[in-house]
Amino acid sequence: MKTVAVLGATGSIGASALDVIARHPDRFRVGALAAHRNVEALAALCVRFAPELAVIADASLESELRARLKLAHVATRVAAGPHALIEAASAPHCDTVIAAIVGAAGLESTLAAARAGKRLLLANKEAVVMAGALLRAALDEGGGALLPIDSEHNAVFQCLPAQRAGLDAAGVRRIVLTASGGPFRGRTRAELGAVTPAMACAHPNWRMGRKISVDSATLMNKGLEVIEAHFLFDAPAERIDVVVHPQSIVHSMVEYSDGSVLAQLGNPDMRTALAHALAWPERVEAGVAPLDLLGIGKLDFEAPDRTTFACLDLAYRALATGGNAPIVLNAANEEAVSAFLDGRLAFLDIPHIIESTMEKTPLADVAALSDVLDGDLTARRVAQRMIASAKD
Ligand code: NAD
Ligand code: MG
Repeated sequence: MKTVAVLGATGSIGASALDVIARHPDRFRVGALAAHRNVEALAALCVRFAPELAVIADASLESELRARLKLAHVATRVAAGPHALIEAASAPHCDTVIAAIVGAAGLESTLAAARAGKRLLLANKEAVVMAGALLRAALDEGGGALLPIDSEHNAVFQCLPAQRAGLDAAGVRRIVLTASGGPFRGRTRAELGAVTPAMACAHPNWRMGRKISVDSATLMNKGLEVIEAHFLFDAPAERIDVVVHPQSIVHSMVEYSDGSVLAQLGNPDMRTALAHALAWPERVEAGVAPLDLLGIGKLDFEAPDRTTFACLDLAYRALATGGNAPIVLNAANEEAVSAFLDGRLAFLDIPHIIESTMEKTPLADVAALSDVLDGDLTARRVAQRMIASAKD
């Protein structure tokens, strides 16, 4: 029996994870649930899954969560505030942690789970982008395992040999990440001037949270995933390629030196990756419909439009620059996306804000968590100033 902490339980990944967990009460139980401020949804999940611990990150909602649980006669212990996320990530009664908080807010709990030696199911790609090297060190220190949940990285993981000895030793030539192209695939810049948050969040194949949906529309999601792949698989940037595949059936590929290309296919449903990582190395039912290849008929592949969707190359540039550049890229992107979602920034200004933030933030080395947090804060301030002036 595995006892699972779900951080980001009220989100899209959280819901898919809990759906898989609920299908296998003989294998998995929920030990801890954490969310930001959706106290009603968190309380309902506590009633359903009866975890030992519930964490509400917004401490002003602690008493409301307690009151709701008392009313429902649920014995779950309540903790609150950002620090309590770390408590949930390293709780001794949990052996598995699903890191599904969105953005930099998930960084410290993700690192804590790694340091505590948990089986870390990683969806929170921003944590890897910001602190890939620190995460690797924390995993080595804790001795646990990392299983990627991002569908592309989960696919690559499945296509690599079980014994990890570096790409060269495994005969891997390159990793090919697939991208759906998002809701604006094929559009020109002129057609993107007036797009709204609702249009950007209407992804053709996946139902996801709003931030990652906008990232998919700008192709920054793929850029973050290139950096994520670099850290997870110890792959240099020139051996990570991106190909647009509008059907989102091939989740990614690994090309070997003998010309073999291994791909993982499936319906676009995150429960496959979550079930794979929860049960690994075994396999369990995920609730996902069987793949109907005849119904799909054909699989298309095309090159990404790197001019209209400039964020992809900004991410490659940040990876090549190294140091705090990926931190700055991520922070500027989070600020720009949040401004776009609030109606404070135009869609086409997102890459501009990120590029200028990268140019205006001093380059620095990253040795410790404090360097990561400093870089994040500095870049956010620069980005916020530019967003305010972009509006004027
Ligand atoms: P979402 O917006 O649906 O959910 C986010 C979750 O994080 C919520 O439970 C929210 O309460 C929690 N959260 C947000 N801010 C927080 C804070 N300050 N403190 C504590 N908790 C906080 O997002 P999502 O789509 O589920 O994505 C979650 C992560 O998984 C992201 O990093 C995303 O890139 C990654 N991911 C998602 C998908 C997908 O299909 N949704 C696929 C691949 C990777
Ligand atoms: Mg992905």
